[in-house]
Amino acid sequence: MVKINALKKSYGQLEVLRSVNLDVNAGEVIVIIGPSGSGKSTLLRTMNHLETPSGGTIIVNNTLVNDDNLSGKMLEHHLCKVRTNLGMVFQHFNLFPHMTILENIIEGPTIVLKQARQEATRRAIKLLESVGLADKQNAYPDMLSGGQKQRVAIVRALAMNPAVMLFDEPTSALDPELVGEVLAVIEQLARDGMTMLIVTHEMSFAQKVADRVIFMDGGYIVEDGTPEQLFGNPQHQRTQQFLASIHS
Ligand code: ADP
Ligand code: MG
Repeated sequence: MVKINALKKSYGQLEVLRSVNLDVNAGEVIVIIGPSGSGKSTLLRTMNHLETPSGGTIIVNNTLVNDDNLSGKMLEHHLCKVRTNLGMVFQHFNLFPHMTILENIIEGPTIVLKQARQEATRRAIKLLESVGLADKQNAYPDMLSGGQKQRVAIVRALAMNPAVMLFDEPTSALDPELVGEVLAVIEQLARDGMTMLIVTHEMSFAQKVADRVIFMDGGYIVEDGTPEQLFGNPQHQRTQQFLASIHS
C-alpha cells in the first residue's frame, strides 16, 4: 500500500530525512516513535506532499506521489488525487469554525469527490454515528470538547475514503481525560483493517494496536519490529536509551 524508497528531505543544510525506506502492507498499523526533531512529522508530511522530498520515491496505493515529470495544472490534479488516498489527522483539529460539524465533513466529499450532497450527508451521519457523535452534526466546532473535535477530524478524513490514514500525535494536544476516546476510535479503525501510520507517545496504545513499531532518530529509521520486539527487546542502543528516557 505504501512503498518509500531512499526518501530524503533537507531544509537548506539541515538533513531531516536522510534515507528512509519503509514498506507498509494493506491493513497494517505502523506506530512511529522517536525523540522530538527526529523527522516523524516530516515523514508524514512528505508522504502527503505537503513537503517536497529532496530525493527518493514515495508510492501510495500504486501511485508515485512525487512525480517530477509533472508541473502546473497536471501536478495540481495529480496531488489532488494523491491526497484523496491519504487521510491526515494532526495534533490540532483544524476544523472550519464557521461551519457546522456536518458541513465540515461533507466539504471534501462534495467539492473534491463531487459526491451529491444527499449522499455525502448520509455517509457523514453514518461515520458520526460510528464515533458516537451523531447528535453533534448541527453543532459548531466551538461547542465541542477537544476529544469530540478530534473525533470529528478523524471522521472528516475518513469521509474521503482514503486508502491510508496518517496520524501525527493525534492526542498530544488533549487533556488527559479525553485521550482515551480518541484512541478508542483509532483502535476501532485498526480492527476494521484500515492501513495506518501513527506518530504517538502513547506507548501502551502502540503496544496494543501496532503491527509494527518504528523508532526514528536523526532522520533515519533506526529500528523496526513488532511491539514485542521493539519494546521488549530493543536491539539498538539509541532505541534502548529512548525507551528508558520515556519510562523514567
Ligand atoms: P518530529 O516530528 O520528529 O519532532 P519534525 O519532522 O517536525 O520532527 O522535524 C525534524 C527537524 O526538521 C527538526 O529539526 C525541525 O526543526 C526541522 N524542520 C521541520 N520543518 C521545518 C521547516 N519547514 N523548515 C526548517 N526546518 C524544519
Ligand atoms: Mg512532530
